[in-house]
Order: sequence, then C-alpha cells, then structure tokens
Amino acid sequence: MTAWKLIIHGGAKEIAPEEETDNRDGLAEAIEAGRKVLVDGGTAIDAVEASVRVLERLPVFNAGRGSDPTVRGEIEMCSAIMDGASLDIGGVIAIQEVCHPVSVARALLHEAPILLAGKGATRFAREIGAELCTLEELKTADPASEGGETHDTVGAVALDSHRDLAAATSTGGLAGQMSGRVGDSPMPGCGYYAENGVGAVALSGHGEGIARLRLASKIMHRLNGLTPDQAIADSVAEMMRVGGDGGGVAIDGTGRIGWAHNSPHFAVASVVEGDNGPAIWLRKQDR
Ligand code: ASP
Repeated sequence: MTAWKLIIHGGAKEIAPEEETDNRDGLAEAIEAGRKVLVDGGTAIDAVEASVRVLERLPVFNAGRGSDPTVRGEIEMCSAIMDGASLDIGGVIAIQEVCHPVSVARALLHEAPILLAGKGATRFAREIGAELCTLEELKTADPASEGGETHDTVGAVALDSHRDLAAATSTGGLAGQMSGRVGDSPMPGCGYYAENGVGAVALSGHGEGIARLRLASKIMHRLNGLTPDQAIADSVAEMMRVGGDGGGVAIDGTGRIGWAHNSPHFAVASVVEGDNGPAIWLRKQDR
C-alpha cells in the first residue's frame, strides 16, 4: 500500500480578481470529490473522473457547463481519461449535448477505439445513456470569456493506494474557435498521459502549441530525473518556440507531486493522504 495523492487544475489562464472566489470554491469542491474516492480505497481512475465531473458542472470553468462556444455558437467539447496501469485510453472529440464529457470518455476506456469524434462520439454518449444538457445549459454566461482566447481546460492526475496512476482532461476548447477545431486535450502525449512507474500529467494552455511540442510526452520523459515541478516548467518554457502559454500538474512514478505554469494564473488544488485539507493556489507566486 502507498499513500494516495491527487492534484487537479481549473486551467492555465488569467483570473480576474472577482473570479478568484469562484475558482477557489470550485477547486475545493472538485478536490473533495476525488479525495472521497481515494479515502475510501477507490481507484485513481475513479478519483480523476469524480474531480473532473465537478469542474465540468461548474460554469466558472471552460469544460462541460460553461464551455466556450465555437465561432458558429455551438458547444464542442473534448475530454480524455487514461489508466496508467493498463495504458487504456478513452477520449471524445468535439462531442455535443453531454453534461459530462469525461464520463463518456470513461465509458470508452475499455473499448477497442481510444478516441471517438463528432457525431460518433455524441451517438455513443446517447447509446450509453449519458446525461444530456441543452446548448443553453452548456453555454457560458461568463462575459470574461467572450470574444477572446481563454485557457480553461480542466484536468486531474491521481495515484491510488495500489500505486496505480491516472490522468483526465476536459475542455470546451478556445473561445470562438473554428468548428471542428481540436486542441491538445484529447490527444495522448499532448494534453495528458499516464503510465505506472513513470508518471501522470494533465495540461492546459494553447492547444496548438502544446500539441506541436507533444508536451505531455516531454514531461513524462523529463520525470525520469527532474522533479515534477521542474519537468513541467522546462516543458512549458518550450512554448516560447511556437507561441502561447500553459500549465500542467503531474505526479511522478515515485509519487512526487508538482505543477508549473507560464500563463498569468493557474488554478490548482492538491491533497495527499494524511493532509488535514487540500492546498489551493491560483498562481505560482502564492506558493
Ligand atoms: N488546451 C485547450 C485547447 O487548446 C485550451 C485550454 O487549455 O483551455 O483546446
């Protein structure tokens, strides 16, 4: 048995002073949902799904409810979940009409395809009886995210008491993005990865830049030697080559936990077995 750990994020972004409380409260609720799973001896996969479901339900985060619309006014969401023990992956791309993309991704985890896109993903969600949301329920009411790029992908990584790692991401993409545009969040090795004994990582930020640099893959490589903080910091620093900024959370193969970002803010919460309560940060200067 090993001490369980959980670290989640609500996006690498700019947080206006009046949004700080909602971000903190949302992180607190989401980390508590994952913590409960791990305290009860549950799996890392269940914990990351539980935390991400809360973040998807809260409109302050750009995932599930509160997703940013495309240029055509539609909501197209991406999400993925990965099991570090089996390397199973489930992911959905440009899915519509569902309240919890991460749970649809979870339902795909042990199926043959790793990713389903567009109509096929939405059809799969209907077939498994996923909870459905109307376009109005999914759209953000947050004026701060209208008409500009926001980086609000949510994510979580966990290590459970059986030493299994898992990672999950969920996003509405970028505000005003082209219909059909796909960022890093559903792509393994780009927005996330998990492999027992090596580590687990979940990223947020400019999806094109993250994908072009295959940042999750680089972080996994760097976890063999560097601390999670340093592995992520060195990797997001590479985004200068292609433009954009980002942030990530990670746990390494030995259970060390960390995060870093080069965006103005990064909403992060973590909890480790034995802690009195979670730690919550909105930027690295708060550490
Ligand atoms: N990474 C996401 C994307 O490019 C955006 C985000 O982090 O909010 O789709």
